[in-house]
Amino acid sequence: MQEHPQIQERRSDQTADLVVVANRLPVRRVQADEDLDEQWTVSPGGLVSAMAPVLADRNRFAWVGWPGDADGPTEAFNHEEMRLVPVHISEEEHELHYEGMSNGTLWPLYHDKVEPSEFHRHWFDGHRRVNQRFADLVSENAAENATVWVHDYQLQLVPGYLRALRPDLTIGFFLHIPFPPPELFMQIPWRTELTTGLLGADLVGFQTLEGANNFARLARTLDLAAGETNELLTRNGRDIHIRAFPIGIDVERYNEGANRPEITERAALVRKRLGNPKKVLLGVDRLDYTKGIDVRLRAFKELLAEERFGPGEVILIQVAQPSRDNVEAYVALKERVQGLVGEINGDFARVGVPPVHYIHQSRDFDELMSLYRSADVMMVTPLRDGMNLVAKEYVASRHDDTGVLVLSEFAGAADELTEALIVNPYDIDGVKSALMRAVAMPADEAAERMAAMRAKVEENHATRWAESFLTALRDVTRRTPSGPSKRQGETTG
Ligand code: UDP
Repeated sequence: MQEHPQIQERRSDQTADLVVVANRLPVRRVQADEDLDEQWTVSPGGLVSAMAPVLADRNRFAWVGWPGDADGPTEAFNHEEMRLVPVHISEEEHELHYEGMSNGTLWPLYHDKVEPSEFHRHWFDGHRRVNQRFADLVSENAAENATVWVHDYQLQLVPGYLRALRPDLTIGFFLHIPFPPPELFMQIPWRTELTTGLLGADLVGFQTLEGANNFARLARTLDLAAGETNELLTRNGRDIHIRAFPIGIDVERYNEGANRPEITERAALVRKRLGNPKKVLLGVDRLDYTKGIDVRLRAFKELLAEERFGPGEVILIQVAQPSRDNVEAYVALKERVQGLVGEINGDFARVGVPPVHYIHQSRDFDELMSLYRSADVMMVTPLRDGMNLVAKEYVASRHDDTGVLVLSEFAGAADELTEALIVNPYDIDGVKSALMRAVAMPADEAAERMAAMRAKVEENHATRWAESFLTALRDVTRRTPSGPSKRQGETTG
């Protein structure tokens, strides 16, 4: 298919060789200023720090994303040597595409439907519109034969739309959340359109092999692609590579943080304020129904009721970062969690020593570091989670090989961190036994397990993840015999 002439005309004179496409731009606004560059600061951690080293040697790079509000900038601007292309999303579109389709339909369904998914045609219409706008802007800002890397579940239609507009591009897609089994995905009324969207990419990456296999099976079940193996599918004579790329963290940042003397002091202060208990348990999560916060609270409550710990011996700190609190399911979860915390402290507190310290606030990096350093046992018990970075952050902060990680088998991180105490979060007795085992674990066993996990977290750090995805994408292009510019465009739907 020929590129639409208007698109060619509209193409920016500052086109990029590498375009990253994500729901959000990697910056947040700090002040209103005449000078656009002064208004923004790069968001710490996350995708942008993983990408920074790989971007350093690309001189023509752009990032396409939503600036964070409907009144954001409408024109592309440069910030810290990045070209940022804002996607305008109206408040109504935000409700339909983001709060509705992304977080009301796809998020629960992709997380095993631990909460019901809603299907609304007007949500999907808004979703289509916004995805098309992202694709149009990428098309305008990408140079001939450029590489495009699209991220996450909000933008699954973008690869297909982009392939139709610009067959010359090499397109990669990475899903940061789990990909569900086909049996579940088949419920989505727009299953064909969404799958076709993803198949517009040359390389589709997932957090785990399970996600990759689920997607390959789905594409074949819907008869949208063929292939003898799950790693390589073909559609309209074009190859689509499917692989797992488990995401890593910025290990240096956590190592450095954990070793700072003021963090050590703050960690000691945390324990002192808790009354120097024998063991400190910690949970750090967004307040999301996928995270299994109530699972660990219930396990802890039963252990207290059974008097498995002496009074004040074991204290649990639970950070629950506020999240999506205008959505009904999240309000209900907040009430459920707060109710449980209230019951536990009501039933088991002594004056000045509540067993649960519940923090329904967002904590910054230094505070999280001192909490990670103060905790003997980290509880990560999601019902389903793409990766769970908190698990890796805790491991990275245990430079002295102390501490025990209790980890749900349904977090992507469990594929790598096999030396954690792996639990089924639906099995409260199993979680209770793991917690007791964690609390009583001899130091040499804990050290052996932690050292093995730390080696893996250090090896597969965030930049290595970004490099390996981009290297795989480059190899895909090399393997395409006709060369990317000769490839066929495709219609979507
Ligand atoms: N986090 C934070 N402050 C908080 C709670 C969490 O900065 O109060 C960070 C945490 O350090 C981690 C991220 O938020 O980097 C959560 O990532 P994860 O993969 O665990 O879960 P997600 O929220 O992406 O589902």
